[in-house]
Amino acid sequence: MAESTTNMEIPGLSKNARTVLEKRYLKRDTEGKILETPADMFRRVAEAIAVADRSFDKKADTKALAQKFYDLMTSFEFLPNSPTLMNAGRELGQLSACFVLPVGDSMEDIFDAVKYTALIHKSGGGTGFSFSRLRPANDVVRSTSGISSGPISFMRVFDAATETIKQGGTRRGANMGILRVDHPDIMDFIMCKDDQKHLNNFNISVGLTEAFMEAVEKDAEYDLRNPRDGKPCGKLNARKVFSRIVKQAWKNGEPGIIFLDRLNRDNPTPKAGEIESTNPCGEQPLLPYESCNLGSINLGKMVKDGEVDWKRLKEVVRLGVHFLDNVIEVNNYPLPQINETTRSNRKVGLGVMGWADMLILLGIPYSSAEAIALGEKVMRFINDEGHAYSRELAASRGTFPNFEGSIYDRPGEGPIRNATVTTIAPTGTISIIANASSGVEPLFAVSYVRQVLDKNILVEVNPIFEEIARQRGFFSEELMQKIAQHGTVHDIAEVPEDVRKVFVTAHDITPEDHIEMQAAFQKYTDNAVSKTVNFANNATIEDVEKVYRLAYKLECKGVTIYRDGSRDEQVLSTGAKE
Ligand code: ADP
Repeated sequence: MAESTTNMEIPGLSKNARTVLEKRYLKRDTEGKILETPADMFRRVAEAIAVADRSFDKKADTKALAQKFYDLMTSFEFLPNSPTLMNAGRELGQLSACFVLPVGDSMEDIFDAVKYTALIHKSGGGTGFSFSRLRPANDVVRSTSGISSGPISFMRVFDAATETIKQGGTRRGANMGILRVDHPDIMDFIMCKDDQKHLNNFNISVGLTEAFMEAVEKDAEYDLRNPRDGKPCGKLNARKVFSRIVKQAWKNGEPGIIFLDRLNRDNPTPKAGEIESTNPCGEQPLLPYESCNLGSINLGKMVKDGEVDWKRLKEVVRLGVHFLDNVIEVNNYPLPQINETTRSNRKVGLGVMGWADMLILLGIPYSSAEAIALGEKVMRFINDEGHAYSRELAASRGTFPNFEGSIYDRPGEGPIRNATVTTIAPTGTISIIANASSGVEPLFAVSYVRQVLDKNILVEVNPIFEEIARQRGFFSEELMQKIAQHGTVHDIAEVPEDVRKVFVTAHDITPEDHIEMQAAFQKYTDNAVSKTVNFANNATIEDVEKVYRLAYKLECKGVTIYRDGSRDEQVLSTGAKE
């Protein structure tokens, strides 16, 4: 039983954080009455995760470790992904945010996957699927002498299931749908969200191959293959397909793209299977039936006296990896297959949030060469220290079971505990809880309105900006309102020049700046980087195409873009909204 901390306040817990926690994270009774405080929640999580140490050492001091985890979370230096905060130490006990499920080419396989999706969504996880194994629409179905309905029509079934579960679950449910570019239905897939009426519970991405990208370069045709027999069944002009993808992305942000062969080139356990999909936001490639739990270090808290606090960062990385490896141990997996696959590879995804905050605190503009260099340095440090700690864990806990034949199984290299250590998550909700800028994104705006969960609209001023404005005596309610209208401080004379320079927002920088930052973090990340490249409303199709090609050139693993105002509904928006 957790000791009662009912009256304990967490310094630095913002009003928005409290609202989000009360709405979905805190324990409630059957009548909906909230049964725990935020401090109780962190205590519950810290204790449940620390207990895992006992599996390896009967005498482990889990009380001391729980206190360390508690301090780590309540100082907002590190937070695990939402399902861990919601479910650790509770009956459900499902702690992962990311899953990939296989979808086989039979009714049984498809509807099994729908059922598994329902179980995962109910517990707050998100699911990714490749639909590439499904035979195309109008293909033969021998058993019924009928014709098949194809991947897109089956995606609608998953979408409808998600829509229904959303009513009762902890989160609304999110899916990634992927189709290989050489699937015969690819053109329909590219267009399947064109009307913005269908598949609203899906993000979609086209799985691009190296062969396809070469054909784009050469303006050549490439082969389509029917997955039923693997045989070529037609050709398309690669450049035309690429242009169509770009045009649709320009139009309303979808489809995104992922570079499938790159994901497999970096697949740490090729003997255990091929990677065909990522989780919903694209940052976590996984094998079929694999899950992964994420955690993010708040870089805004890693600045001391105007410099990066490398010593504390190292401690936080080590504690973070320790925490995430423990999560694998105590996690209650929704299916036996997921338990098996996840424990065989023990992938974790330690990443960051508050990157823009860190830059501001250091006085470095996001769109500068200095910022790119520091991004690489910080992520390299986290990756190296994370791997070093995972190796230490392997010494006392053993390596991940699929180590043999993995990319780590090389002469001169010792065992490692986790097949992957680092991932950059979007941190959509946990960054609100930590009052930090999200992931590696620039500030969306200096002050803005935000739609949270269902429709709660909150007007927010960036906390660091507010503090500086108060300290330097230019704070006023009117000014904050004015900035909310503009969304940027770029052209606001009341704000001192040096402050304007570092408070750059997503729309003050070029799409190329976005991709370069994504590439900088990708360089030292085992998995992938969640990043949205923002375009101004008046950006052209050619602008989008340029960025897609740049992402390929700079070794990114995928791209997601968004052109301001291009969708009927958007989660974040600048300017006043009724
Ligand atoms: P959080 O901040 O809540 O921990 P992120 O925004 O970092 O979550 O997203 C990480 C991953 O969590 C996503 O890629 C996805 O796999 C999963 N996820 C996010 N939002 C949802 C949701 N509403 N329903 C189900 N899964 C989600």
